[in-house]
Order: sequence, then C-alpha cells, then structure tokens
Amino acid sequence: FNSLMKHKQQMESVSHLAAGFAHELRNPLSVIRGFIQLSGLTNNIEKYYKTILSEIDRMNEIIEDFLSLSRNNSRKQVQEPNELFHSLIPLIRSECILRNITFDYQFEKTNRRIYFDKSMIKQIILNLLRNAVEAFEEKQNDKRFEIRTKALKDVYQVTVSDNGPGMEKSVLEKLGKPFFTTKENGTGIGLPLCKKIIKDHEGEFYIDSKLGEGTTITFTLPFVND
Ligand code: ADP
Ligand code: MG
Repeated sequence: FNSLMKHKQQMESVSHLAAGFAHELRNPLSVIRGFIQLSGLTNNIEKYYKTILSEIDRMNEIIEDFLSLSRNNSRKQVQEPNELFHSLIPLIRSECILRNITFDYQFEKTNRRIYFDKSMIKQIILNLLRNAVEAFEEKQNDKRFEIRTKALKDVYQVTVSDNGPGMEKSVLEKLGKPFFTTKENGTGIGLPLCKKIIKDHEGEFYIDSKLGEGTTITFTLPFVND
C-alpha cells in the first residue's frame, strides 16, 4: 500500500511538473505569436525584434532549467569567479531596463579561485533575477535588484536581493519543497534547482525575505586551496 501511495505521489508530481512546464512555455510562445502577427500588420518587424528575441531566450531558460534537473555531469573548472559575474552584467542590465528596475552591483575582486560550472552559476543568477522580476508589482516605485559578492576567508559569498513584496512566512516555510509555487504559471523548480546546484558545489544557500521589504538570497562557493 505504501509503495502504491508513493507511486501515486510521484505520478502527481510528474503531472504537476509537466503542466507547469507546458504553461511556462506557452506564455512566451503566445507573446511571440502575437508580436509576429502585429509586425505583419504594421510591416515593421524591427520594432518587435527585441521582445521576440527575449521571449525566445526565456523559453530557452525554461528548457535549460528542466534539463538541468536531471543532468549530473557538470562542467566544473577551477577558475576565478569575477569574470563570470561581470559577463552577466549586460544581460541583467537590459532585462532590468526593460522593466524599469534599477540594477546595482558590487563585485569584490579576488585572486582566489573556485571549482565551478559557469553555466550552472549563471542559471542561478538568471533564476533569481526572474523571480525578482515576477515578484515586483507594476505600480511599485523605485524597484531595485542588486548583486554583491564578497571574498570571505574560505568562501566566495554572493548576495542577490530585491526590494519587492517579499514573502509571507507560510510561503517561506514551503520553499524547500520541489514544485512549490504561488504563481499561476509557475513550475516551482527555480529555487530547488538553485539549491541543488549550490549543493553540488559544496556551498550553502540561504533565503531571507520580509513581507513588504524584499528578498535576499545568499549563497557561497568554497575557494580551492592553491
Ligand atoms: P516559481 O518561480 O516557478 O514559482 P521558484 O522555485 O523560483 O518557482 O519560486 C517559488 C516561490 O517562491 C514563488 O512562486 C514565489 O512565491 C516565491 N519567491 C521566489 N522568489 C521570490 C522573490 N524574489 N520575491 C518574492 N517571492 C519570491
Ligand atoms: Mg522562479
């Protein structure tokens, strides 16, 4: 009986996941369709390029998240972290400009190195950015998104914060669980995936959020001894 229940629960989470996946892809897809249709009417596709491209990128991110859930062979390398963080600035900046969010960053320079997979850490940052973007209410003034890094004694510490609506206690408590989402079209794999990636890197992952004040995510990546 127990194993039957377990099987039932597994099937439920698989179908939940599949539904979330489909919904999340459908959104950007319908935006793309709409914009191509519009550009046909106005004969002015240039105007819509940006949105179409960013929606296609969004679809790629979603697919990437799903693939990563099951991927085990990561491509870790011993490398210096700042280059990666700097390379993400243009992408984050343009996303923020598009949504009227002020982006601020401060990366502490370090000569020390970390054993990490660039694309995985990039994925974490993009997921956190996405969550912040989705959390902000349209009418909020002075929206801010911020990334700070610090070289501590043994670890590189990354802090990603927004001054959005924050989370209720009941939401915070459920956050660890896979597929937990408060969004109509959410998948609930963003934060669990971030946690999994950091665990694979032997770092720590913390979530701190206050209702009405914002959300701060902190994670660490251990330096290699050299
Ligand atoms: P999804 O984004 O698909 O809902 P996540 O795992 O990324 O899944 O996030 C889970 C939930 O955590 C979200 O549905 C939302 O309620 C909450 N959340 C995550 N990030 C933030 C944030 N920056 N501000 C407010 N709520 C957040
Ligand atoms: Mg998310």
